[in-house]
Amino acid sequence: MPEPLAAPADEQHGGDVAAEKQKVQDAVAKVAADLGARAQKAGGEAQQVLEAAVMMAQDPMLADDVTARIDGGKTGERAVHEAFASFQEQLVALGGYMAERATDLADVAQRIIAALRGVPAPGVPESDTPFILVARDLAPADTALLDLEKVLGLVTSDGGPTSHTAILARSKSIPAIVGVTGALELADGTSIVLDAAAGAVVVDPSAEQVADAEQRIADRVAQAAAPITDGALADGTKVPLLANVGSAKDGPAAVELGAEGVGLFRTEFLFLDASEAPSVETQTAQYTALLEFFPGKKVVVRALDAGADKPLSFLNDAHEENPALGLRGLRALRASEQILHDQLTALKNAQDATEADLWVMAPMVADAEETAWFVEYGKKLGLNTVGVMAEVPSLAVVADQVLESADFVSIGTNDLTQYTLAADRMLGSVASYQDPWHPAVLRLVKSLGDAGAAAGKGVGICGEAAADPQLAVVLVGLGATTLSMTPAALADVRAELAGVTLEQAKAKAAAALAAHSADGAREAARTA
Ligand code: PEP
Ligand code: MG
Repeated sequence: MPEPLAAPADEQHGGDVAAEKQKVQDAVAKVAADLGARAQKAGGEAQQVLEAAVMMAQDPMLADDVTARIDGGKTGERAVHEAFASFQEQLVALGGYMAERATDLADVAQRIIAALRGVPAPGVPESDTPFILVARDLAPADTALLDLEKVLGLVTSDGGPTSHTAILARSKSIPAIVGVTGALELADGTSIVLDAAAGAVVVDPSAEQVADAEQRIADRVAQAAAPITDGALADGTKVPLLANVGSAKDGPAAVELGAEGVGLFRTEFLFLDASEAPSVETQTAQYTALLEFFPGKKVVVRALDAGADKPLSFLNDAHEENPALGLRGLRALRASEQILHDQLTALKNAQDATEADLWVMAPMVADAEETAWFVEYGKKLGLNTVGVMAEVPSLAVVADQVLESADFVSIGTNDLTQYTLAADRMLGSVASYQDPWHPAVLRLVKSLGDAGAAAGKGVGICGEAAADPQLAVVLVGLGATTLSMTPAALADVRAELAGVTLEQAKAKAAAALAAHSADGAREAARTA
């Protein structure tokens, strides 16, 4: 994928003002036409995003600013660069939704400058034939807009396996491997086999390797067509398979793919575009809309998890050197109790208005004191079932104490891995540490599973680990009672669980626990 263009040098044009302006006008017209055509092809939400970009390219105020800068002697490229950058700064200063549009504006500016230079625009390239996209990283907007007919897979050199690029790619069923060293050295047109399950990229594969990959793809297609059943092991042990969702709109797809309920509703997406917390009424409507898709079924909603990679200025605008270790999750909610009060009130309203079995949990909880505080707070507001997420290792260490008050625990393996291995989940350079197969993470899961069994309470998994079929088996062997994942992963996990008994899952778990590394655990579980 073409890299971002360098800023044009601050140079004066040759003196022909009219010619310079004409070049910019032509470039803008070309970019607007190209984006417009893409918008028509994309349809849906992508169409709206692209149509907004067309309007930005043609914005009259921006055009005036560019013209004035050319009049002042700047080259067309430089004038576009400066005018867009100044407008971007204004948007960033406005904050919230407007600030997010600043990135889109930068993309439009890059396209115009590329057109002026006569080079390909940065971003996802156009191609007539399907291809595997190799990039440094993708903006979530790029990932969301990927043409699934054309992009067969994704390899990035940056980002960890639980970065938002990876999570989005998985939710769109795009095989993706992120944080691959040397990815950018792959020349355009190189033939590769991408095995996302094994995390392997085979360069210039042999005919045999290609045939093997094609057979595995055919097997997967056949598997996905199998009838949908509830999650269970070969001996009949039930393992409810639930969905991770980000909004009420995700409900129908989750139901269609056989989710037996929702194991994680990430509510922060309701808040992230806003400059203040949504009202109780707005939230009630959103929660009710999701719960209505699941009458008689469990729906686990997570209280607002802001902070770290999901900053929210109205909750915490302090500069933090290490935001992942800062005022995030429940810590931030306790510091802004009204926001928590409003959210739990809205959830109680939704609980009363629907037939779903609502469970509510807090993110980023450290110990039994925080657990007891949250559970009491939720119950006082009338919530029936209140629990906590296990994401901070300290919570797993005192799991028995936590389960004295919590009705349930749900393990967020993404954060639990990041904190156990002290490896920032957003950082490509430490991506190899961000592996939930690590025996240290598995031992914490076991401690939670044991405590859950002793207390007779549920211990679910809602991090990305649950979407890895082999790891899902191990997690059940360690005591997980439910698994929640992006709906696209349900079919593979369902099929894998159906092939093992509880006794076999426990044997695989024991083998993995005794390993000395994540790779060792993977291998030990495979051969146990
Ligand atoms: C997790 O940390 O595993 C989790 C499910 O939460 P998120 O990925 O939203 O931080
Ligand atoms: Mg988390």
